[in-house]
Amino acid sequence: MLDAAPNRPDLPAEIARRRTFAIISHPDAGKTTLTEKFLLYGGAIQMAGQVRAKGEARRTRSDFMKMEQDRGISVSASAMSFDFKTFRFNLVDTPGHSDFSEDTYRTLTAVDAAVMVIDGAKGVESQTKKLFEVCRLRDLPIFTFCNKMDRESRDTFEIIDEIQENLAIDVTPASWPIGMGRDFLGCYDLIHDRLELMDRADRNKVAETIEIKGLDDPKLAEHVSAHLLVQLQEEVEMARELLPTLDPQAVLEGHMTPIWFGSAINSFGVKELMDGIGEYGPEPQPQSAEPRQISPEETKVSGFVFKVQANMDPKHRDRVAFVRLASGHFRRGMKLTHVRSKKPMAVSNPVLFLAADRELAEEAWAGDIIGIPNHGQLRIGDTLTEGETLKVTGIPSFAPELLQGVRAGDPMKAKHLEKALMQFAEEGAAKVFKPMIGSGFIVGVVGALQFEVLGSRIELEYGLPVRFEPSQFTSARWVTGPKAAVDKLINANKQHIGHDNDGDVVYLTRLQWDIDRVIRDYPDVTLSATKEMM
Ligand code: GDP
Repeated sequence: MLDAAPNRPDLPAEIARRRTFAIISHPDAGKTTLTEKFLLYGGAIQMAGQVRAKGEARRTRSDFMKMEQDRGISVSASAMSFDFKTFRFNLVDTPGHSDFSEDTYRTLTAVDAAVMVIDGAKGVESQTKKLFEVCRLRDLPIFTFCNKMDRESRDTFEIIDEIQENLAIDVTPASWPIGMGRDFLGCYDLIHDRLELMDRADRNKVAETIEIKGLDDPKLAEHVSAHLLVQLQEEVEMARELLPTLDPQAVLEGHMTPIWFGSAINSFGVKELMDGIGEYGPEPQPQSAEPRQISPEETKVSGFVFKVQANMDPKHRDRVAFVRLASGHFRRGMKLTHVRSKKPMAVSNPVLFLAADRELAEEAWAGDIIGIPNHGQLRIGDTLTEGETLKVTGIPSFAPELLQGVRAGDPMKAKHLEKALMQFAEEGAAKVFKPMIGSGFIVGVVGALQFEVLGSRIELEYGLPVRFEPSQFTSARWVTGPKAAVDKLINANKQHIGHDNDGDVVYLTRLQWDIDRVIRDYPDVTLSATKEMM
């Protein structure tokens, strides 16, 4: 139990009702469709389809957005808040493409749980697995939704086995599908012993729930054909014998995932999944920070920036910093301290992301995501408090795996290019290094597609055509150590040295051999592949 120190009251009900989560999935599994249905049940939109329609209206605006559409990937992440029953859900969108792993990683630092969507015919796919591993690093509770049950899908036991074996997590069925493909009727709800029947005629209609008294209830025969009923009874009996039962504590610890079967496009199984997230999902969790951890119930407000998005509105050259509130009750107009610069900051126009629309936030609580428009003061990893010097930890920057030189198409525009690059570096869209020797910049990314995205954004948002060119370097390491040792390394290896957008020294490498040589020759210097965002 928490002690009742003045700054540690019980968790306020407003915080306790919050569930902040992300959806992870392989492209095409149904993340967008499921998001729409969440919003539908959350009462945030009247009719499903609006998220997409809205998205398309937005996308026509620019080539960059068009690229997003053509490739079927979502480059920009956003957050959405909506109420469901007594809960307030905050859904943080993760960029879907594998090329954006770093961005995704940081997004997952802002949530307390994840929904894993898999396609019932395909099971665990490569991207699901990667994202799952990231969730595991933080022991995030996972809720699984097996989608597209209205199509021919795999055997239920096979799907569950595959998740258990591939992801090394216990799986407990929260529902059990009845029939599949064209014969898919609905599910037997194993938590509440209810029958949930899918309505194929109206895709937006809430499924019909039929109260029954267990699997022997004669009422079942009125809804389920004899052979499907026998199959259901046998399978559920087997599942109850062979598979673990729901253990809420194991779910919270990330060792067990409950699985629901459904069809997002038919709005089926979604409500049950949402009930599950509400009932078994975690409340806002404590946040690791230096020199001490932050608890959500602390009366003082604190939060951290996990994402910065520039030029969301091309008419205004503003940036929005996405802040996850770690503690307290935030009210509009509050003065917070920007810990990195030690400067006060009046947060007068925060934005709450209510179902795809930006809306002014009058108040927010620990667990919520707010957007703070700013002119570049707020960077990824920054902490905001009511004065205390706290630094949220665990938001790393990764060494890029691909490097290219970049030049402005028009050499007179080099200064403009520098400004654009610095902005994208601060946004976390790429690493930018200024080599000590030579002109131009080196841009580093984790996935090749990021070069394309960066190129089109610089052209679109700054009117600057750019050229990428091959670089002799393949990776970079941040250099730290005693000043004398670092200076010695720099002076003897100028052709390998660059500075990142914070001015920190990096060692640009061609081969692993370069790194080995530095380790051997400069034992006092440390080379690292990650840097904590400062
Ligand atoms: P995302 O890439 O994960 O966001 O996937 P989408 O939500 O865009 O869905 C990919 C495709 O699968 C789309 O054509 C959807 O209409 C379709 N889809 C989504 N859910 C279902 C479902 O429950 N059943 C069927 N048959 N198709 C679905």
